[in-house]
Amino acid sequence: MASNTTEGSGTHESEEGHTSLTPRRTWSNVWEHFQKDLVDVDGELKAVCKYCQLKLVTKSGTSSLRGHIANACPAIDSAIRKRFQASMSKQPVDTNFVFDAQLCRKAMIKYIIHAEVPFLQFEDHYLQPWIDTMQPTLIVKGRHTIRSDCFKKFEDLKKELHTELQSLDSRVCLTSDIWTASQNLGYMAITAQYVDAEFKIKKKIIWFKVLEYPHSGFAIEEETMRCLTEWGLRYKLFTSACEELVRNHKHELLFEGEHLHVRCSAHILNILVQDGMTVIHTAIKKIRELLKHIDSSVSRLQMFNSLAKGMGLASKSGIYLDIPTRWNSTFKMLREALKYKAVLNSYAPKIF
Ligand SMILES: [Zn+2]
Repeated sequence: MASNTTEGSGTHESEEGHTSLTPRRTWSNVWEHFQKDLVDVDGELKAVCKYCQLKLVTKSGTSSLRGHIANACPAIDSAIRKRFQASMSKQPVDTNFVFDAQLCRKAMIKYIIHAEVPFLQFEDHYLQPWIDTMQPTLIVKGRHTIRSDCFKKFEDLKKELHTELQSLDSRVCLTSDIWTASQNLGYMAITAQYVDAEFKIKKKIIWFKVLEYPHSGFAIEEETMRCLTEWGLRYKLFTSACEELVRNHKHELLFEGEHLHVRCSAHILNILVQDGMTVIHTAIKKIRELLKHIDSSVSRLQMFNSLAKGMGLASKSGIYLDIPTRWNSTFKMLREALKYKAVLNSYAPKIF
């Protein structure tokens, strides 16, 4: 399935498709490093290196000359050699190149989205002068235009994916995840996994939205249904990780949803570990409270660091604290604490 069918205006076959290539001028610039006149050595014309006077054969082209300047010449200045090497690594350019403002803008939008460039960067006063040195006819758009271009790109891709999903013969599996952002907002993402017409497994994020509290099974089901309706996938579902969905939408599902719910092994593992950790819960809590105490002020951290230094340990710019619901972060916190066990032991009696 071609994902770039909406790219290009039709006059350009592809962004990378150079047709006629002419060697870049600098490729033959190797002659700059040889004496102007060739010399006759036993009836064979040879080029003389300007730096070491070595005579090189030229009948098979300039490759041996380039090799000599780039790597072999013992007398060349290293700055000159580096400059030459850099000119060699550049690809030959298409001399038939015609600047296309629209194509340029499309490629730029792709870059902005991929590199996560903030829109505000486009109002930097030094951007246009820089562009002018390359292509004076290109006028940099303001952040509002760039922003709306990015949204348009998103809408276009979404429309394309919608068509692809609609024309699908196979069914779609869903996986979802919920995170809490640092501003305490819950986000729910839904990923659709399916096999396309060319029998390739595909994975697309089709939903990424704020989810209101509480994150109950009902709320998750409602959000999932909203997503399925918007994408027209209600009757194309194969498996999903939502129990409520089976309960409330039995009649719409394959085998009445009997095989719909696939449990998430990562979630099960998390529950297992959390359960196991209750045994050492008090110890973890003590360590966490102590670390929190140290981390809460600069002077405490300073005291911690001077103790650490005295014991030959590296000082820290901050203390790593865990997020109690994520056991991998608890592991990281404990591992750090263990390294500084002696410091913590001598610190604790000073405060408690
Ligand atoms: Zn030389």
